[in-house]
Amino acid sequence: MDPSSLERLRQVLESGWIGLGPVTKQFEQELAHSDWVGKHPVAVNSGTAALHLALVVADVPEGSAVIVPANTFVSTASVALQHKCRVILADIERATGNIDLESVRDILDTEPDVGAVIAVHYSGIPCDIAGLDEISRQYGVPVIEDCAHAIGSVWQGRPMSESPHIQAYSFHATKALALGEGGCVTFNDRASAERAKRLRRLGIDMSTRSWANPYDIPELGFKYNMGDIAAAVGLGQLASLPDKLQKRWSIVQRYRERLAGTPVELVCEAGDSDRTGGFAVPVLVKDRERVRKELDAAGIESEIYFRPLGAFPLHATRATPVAELFSRDVICLPVHPLISLDEVDYVCDRLSESVV
Ligand SMILES: *Cc1c(COP(=O)(O)O)cnc(C)c1O
Repeated sequence: MDPSSLERLRQVLESGWIGLGPVTKQFEQELAHSDWVGKHPVAVNSGTAALHLALVVADVPEGSAVIVPANTFVSTASVALQHKCRVILADIERATGNIDLESVRDILDTEPDVGAVIAVHYSGIPCDIAGLDEISRQYGVPVIEDCAHAIGSVWQGRPMSESPHIQAYSFHATKALALGEGGCVTFNDRASAERAKRLRRLGIDMSTRSWANPYDIPELGFKYNMGDIAAAVGLGQLASLPDKLQKRWSIVQRYRERLAGTPVELVCEAGDSDRTGGFAVPVLVKDRERVRKELDAAGIESEIYFRPLGAFPLHATRATPVAELFSRDVICLPVHPLISLDEVDYVCDRLSESVV
C-alpha cells in the first residue's frame, strides 16, 4: 500500500530535513508523470505564488495590461498588480462561468499594450483552450491558465497536461489536492522550469557552486518555494486522488440529473468531451439570497464563487455585465468526496422546493 500522508510526514520530521529537499523533488516528479498538471511542474507555497511566477517567467512586460476574467478569486488579478501591470477585466459566458473569448478579442482589438491573458477554469469547467491558443498566436500575447480548480478537468477528451500554456495550480486546503498551503506552476519547456526553480528561492543558483562562492544570484527572485512537510502531505494524497475525483464527478452528475428540468440553471461544460474536475457545483437561481437562507435552514451549506472582481480596489475599469448577473444568481452546492448520493438528493429536493 502507498504510504499515507501521516507516515510520510513522520518520515520527513524524523529525517532532520524539513525544508525544500528530496521529498519536494519526488512530489514534483510524481506530478510530472501524472496527467493531473502540466509539464515540468515547479512546486511553490501557494497558487497565488504560482500565478505570479507564471507572469515573471513568461516575461510579461511591467507596465503592460493583463486581461483577467471578472468571475474569479482575487489572486488571479492581484498578481498582475504585484507585477506592476494594469488589470483589464474580461466578461464571462453565463453558460460556463468562464472567460468570454469575444470579450478578450474586443479588449485586444482596442488596447495596445496587453502583456498577457489569464484564463480561469471556473469551478473545474475547462475553458476553450484551443480558442485561447488561437488568440495567443494571432495577437502574440501569452495565455496563462489559472488551474486552481482544474485538477481532474478534461478538455476535448484530453487531460490538462496537454495544454500548450503555462499553468498555475493551487493546493490550498479547499482544493482537490489539499496540502494546507501550496501550489505549482508548469511549463512546456525545461529552461522556463529551471528559471522558475531559481526564482521561487530568491533567485539562488547553486549550479556554479565552488568553495569560494557557495551560490550565485543571476536574477532576483521571491520566497515562494514549497518545503518537504507540505510535499509529504501531497505525495500521500496522490494515490487516492483518482478515486476522490471520480467521486466528485459522480456527485456532479447526480446534481445534473436531479436538477435537469427544474428552474435551476446548471452551469456546465461547453463540449461533450469536456469534463469538470468538480471543484464546485455552481447553479444559477432567481432570488438567490432567499434560496440560500432556506438551504441554510435545512442544514445545507452553500458558497458564492465569486464576487465579481469589479467590486474590489483593483483599479479595473471595464464593465462586465454578464459576470455581475452571474454573481448575483450563483450558488455553489456542496461537493466533497465524502458526500453521499442520498445527501445530494436531499440538497436537490430542498433546492427544487425553494426555487420558483
Ligand atoms: C484558490 C485560488 C487561487 C489561489 O490559490 P492559493 O493557493 O490560495 O494562493 C487562485 N485562483 C483561484 C481561481 C482560486 O480559487
